Amino acid sequence: MSKKPADYEGRRKHTASHVMSAAVMMLWPETKRGVGPWTDDSFYQDYDFGDAEVSDKDFKKIQKKMRWIVNKNFKVEKRMLKEAEARSAFPGDEYKEELIDGIVERGEDISFYDFVDETGRIVYTDLCAGPHVESTGEIGVFELTKLAGSYWRGDSDNAMLTRVYGVAFENEELMAEYKHFLEEAAKRDHRKLGKELDLFTFSDKVGSGLPLFTPKGTFLRETIANTIQDIQAEFGYERVNIPHICKKDLYETSGHWDKFKEDLFHVKGKGDTEFVMKPMNCPHHTQIYASQMRSYRDLPIRYSEVTTCYRDEQPGELLGLSRVRSLTQDDGHVFCRIDQVKEEVKNITKVVQAFYGKLGMYEPGRFWVSLSVRDPQTPEKYLGDPAEWDKAEQFLKEVSEEQGLDAVKTEGEAAFYGPKLDFMFKDAIGREWQLATAQIDFVQPERFGLEYINEKGEKDRPVMIHRAIAGSLERFLSVIIEHFAGAFPAWLSPIQAHIIPVNEAHEAYAKELQQKLKYAGARIEYYDASDSLGKRIRNAQKSKVPFSIIIGDNEVESGNLTIRKYGEQKDQSVSEEEFLELLES
Ligand SMILES: [Zn+2]
Ligand SMILES: [Zn+2]
Repeated sequence: MSKKPADYEGRRKHTASHVMSAAVMMLWPETKRGVGPWTDDSFYQDYDFGDAEVSDKDFKKIQKKMRWIVNKNFKVEKRMLKEAEARSAFPGDEYKEELIDGIVERGEDISFYDFVDETGRIVYTDLCAGPHVESTGEIGVFELTKLAGSYWRGDSDNAMLTRVYGVAFENEELMAEYKHFLEEAAKRDHRKLGKELDLFTFSDKVGSGLPLFTPKGTFLRETIANTIQDIQAEFGYERVNIPHICKKDLYETSGHWDKFKEDLFHVKGKGDTEFVMKPMNCPHHTQIYASQMRSYRDLPIRYSEVTTCYRDEQPGELLGLSRVRSLTQDDGHVFCRIDQVKEEVKNITKVVQAFYGKLGMYEPGRFWVSLSVRDPQTPEKYLGDPAEWDKAEQFLKEVSEEQGLDAVKTEGEAAFYGPKLDFMFKDAIGREWQLATAQIDFVQPERFGLEYINEKGEKDRPVMIHRAIAGSLERFLSVIIEHFAGAFPAWLSPIQAHIIPVNEAHEAYAKELQQKLKYAGARIEYYDASDSLGKRIRNAQKSKVPFSIIIGDNEVESGNLTIRKYGEQKDQSVSEEEFLELLES
């Protein structure tokens, strides 16, 4: 057999969607077909079923037909058609008409893909640019997964079609792996855990995409933000504070207006001035820098702030804490000379290391770093002095080497305003998230006319570095809730331990102990003896609190604590001091 092409996986999935369509057309011949591409882990196809009522209850029926098509192992063959020929193949099908119009307009060739049986007869055909695998038998193990409404061409003025999703894997083993992954992901879903662990909520009265954080969720947010602030304090960051609205002029100057105006919330005041809710903080921070004449001796100047931004995301795109309309950034900006860039970026990577190290995520194989540089083919895409770009890219490379980051150079991934280091972290079930970043910016200082007086007494332009450690706190929370499956490390957990007296006789001692531990800074909840001991220990485990402390006769006598760690079956005996130390981990 010939070697598999590089896009084989995509071909296989795309052929799977044609097999699904062939099955659908055999079952409901009046169906009209929209588009049907494949994605990273699935394929889908849009259908207009007309008057036929098709739901996920029909999946079994469709899959049975699909299996028949796969077993027949039809050849998949490409056929080129003239425009008139192609049009006559789908009489009265407005979707195909429109698709063919587009192909003709773009001056492309029209191709069909046929399923052909061993006698050479075409058993199924569809307009398609391909490519495909050679025969239907190659699509492997498949399953239809869900069904959803979808507007033709994604436009809500158009007809609503039915989108059917499926997955296809080369063998049973990969399918089983995928199913296990889905189960794990569902168990860890932050929207589900957020409710169960009482971390955040949404209210129709407040609005979609605007999360409200409970005391426990707020504790998590603040602990994350404060931990980052504490770590970076030694690198000279100073806190600043800005209002959440501003004149639209600020974003016109920064250049964000054109790009973001559709996504901004507009605010109407008493006068004529147009205000917006801030979608980012960088332009505001430039104005604090610009409030005074700076000397080279003042640089670097480092501002940091944990502050909320607002973006009017499409309601359909909102998703738990992952996609929200109010997002709180742990933001920071450094204004420095070009020769200070290396040291500053290095310090940012040290904060990343310390913070993610504390979470246990800064480990080999758990993360990788992208050194995002210019695409040498399209230098015109990037603004700023090419000589400064060269220097900045070189500095980032040196930081990567000196800090052992082993950054992967990705050409063309730089922003138009400067190169960057992006940190990608893998969560407990292998999903990858871009979280921390350090981005050099040559453009904002230019647009805002930022200056400092250099050693020669002349005016010079500083470089700006944007830095985020956690990114948006909302998105970061969604990631770590799912990463830890809600069982946070003790230092981060809103409640660190339940204290459980064995029976009434131990209640007074247990309460006293709770007070004592609270004074020492521990976050302890008391769990009275109204339920059976077994039930209380089970409940404590369900709440995912890191420790249960069990107090019975032995503990009262010895003064030691019997503790059980979350997820473990065995108890251990520790002193109060040892226990307090465990809470730091
Ligand atoms: Zn196709
Ligand atoms: Zn920024």
